[in-house]
Amino acid sequence: MSMHSDLFHQRFEARFSDGRTARSREVTVELNERGIAILHQPDEPLIWPYGALATAEPLTDHAIDALVTYSYQPGATLFVQGPRFARALAKLAPQLTASAERWRSASPWLWGAAATIALGCIVWLAELSPARTIAALLPDKARAAMGRQAVASMSEGRAFCDDTTGTKALGKLTQRLATATQIDRPFKVVVIDWGLVNAFATPGENVVLTRGLLEAAEGPDEIAGVLAHEMGHGIELHPETGLVRAMGLAAATELLMGGSGGALGNIGIVLLQLSYSREAEGQADDHAISILRAARVSSRGFAQFFERMSKRDGTPGGSLGKGGLGGMLSSHPETGERLAKVHAAGGYDATPALTKADWTALQGICASTSPDDRQSGPAADKPQ
Ligand SMILES: [Zn+2]
Repeated sequence: MSMHSDLFHQRFEARFSDGRTARSREVTVELNERGIAILHQPDEPLIWPYGALATAEPLTDHAIDALVTYSYQPGATLFVQGPRFARALAKLAPQLTASAERWRSASPWLWGAAATIALGCIVWLAELSPARTIAALLPDKARAAMGRQAVASMSEGRAFCDDTTGTKALGKLTQRLATATQIDRPFKVVVIDWGLVNAFATPGENVVLTRGLLEAAEGPDEIAGVLAHEMGHGIELHPETGLVRAMGLAAATELLMGGSGGALGNIGIVLLQLSYSREAEGQADDHAISILRAARVSSRGFAQFFERMSKRDGTPGGSLGKGGLGGMLSSHPETGERLAKVHAAGGYDATPALTKADWTALQGICASTSPDDRQSGPAADKPQ
């Protein structure tokens, strides 16, 4: 192990769920000679030795996070964002890089309850990521509850923008794109009075747009592009999957069984911290391009917006925050890939996503929001 001493004593922020209660909490973890040390004051550090660890998915060079379980603490999960931890852990616990099979054999707790046995079989048969499988099994009611909670906690201290004509215009745009998705679940889109330029897909086909995004857009086609991309995430259940990974499997199982208890507590914060993999961003882009085409909205606005944002921002994803579009830009170092897809989609007859009057109304959707509400918003305009 001595050859890896350079990896020791690095610290990482993580979410820890002890497997007994559904609520997860923020902890600091450290990699040391013995294992992962989970530091949660005032308790003694908890050590998870490397040899008894399992991960939900094998740690590859492309891993952007790690969901870790420990054989001797059934149900407990540790979720660490970012490639740095995953890479360091892969060196210290090389068995985690080999095969997802290990996860199944090293997690006897998964087979404990009837519900999880069923889940396990499906995971086994479908060879999907467990988090994705659980997300897909969540009843609509649970996804809706997750979505409501996510929207509520994201908008905490910030007002919903609800100017009447602006709301009507947003409804028209949402309808035009949603019809093109050909899924029969309705999308719900809200704008919150937040200066940050961003957009978030949340569970249950909810999308949150910010005032900053509307101000940064140069036309309705750009907003249509962003909205179509977020709808793509929703269709693929990316927010649900991300939350299941982050909350821990115990909390997800509780949701699955129809309870929600403490499981939903930090959902908004977790969602803001999530970033999607490059693959997930690619899937959302593919949906966006198909949706725009079917809705007869030019996809040029979609490409232009992201190109401009990544230039304006200097470092991709820099000031946009981690979640939503920020994550999208940071996992898309090459905007060229997106442009190529747009070009490959070819030309078609298109009309502006909104009429001039509706676009003006949408841009003014926050106009009737009182400036008091605006100031009370924590961290408005502040990169996070
Ligand atoms: Zn995205």
